[in-house]
Amino acid sequence: MGVLLSSQAVCISCGSANRIPASKPVAAARCGRCGAPLGLDAPAEVDDSQLKAVLAKSSGLVLLDVWAPWCGPCRAMAPQFAAAARTLAGYARFVKLNADSSQMVSTLGVSGIPALILFRDGRIVDRKAGLIKADALVTWVRGHLTSSDKPAI
Ligand SMILES: [Zn+2]
Repeated sequence: MGVLLSSQAVCISCGSANRIPASKPVAAARCGRCGAPLGLDAPAEVDDSQLKAVLAKSSGLVLLDVWAPWCGPCRAMAPQFAAAARTLAGYARFVKLNADSSQMVSTLGVSGIPALILFRDGRIVDRKAGLIKADALVTWVRGHLTSSDKPAI
């Protein structure tokens, strides 16, 4: 469990940016415009246009998992990715992009999947490839947190 400070989270449903008050539990956060749950404690499935909205409007860290349904290591990583999303709720936004239905894969520099790309304020800051366990994911992302993301975990 985490508590957001003054982060901005994009609603996947309607694309609007939400400022999340520090006093609210992350898991309960809802979109101020359409009322959809923001789902900040779980990976969100996005398409290309939703990913662009998330990257353009989010502040802080966004971790993207590029995957495909036919990819065994991708499927094996899904529960690890979800566990890390719960642990880092409020610190980093976890999103998943299906490579089969995306035109952005080569633009993102992905040559194999699963591919993990870490963004800060919409810019790529780090990347990893292959199956990664939840605790290693958490350690990796925490290494990119700054004091503006959260004073202590
Ligand atoms: Zn919304």
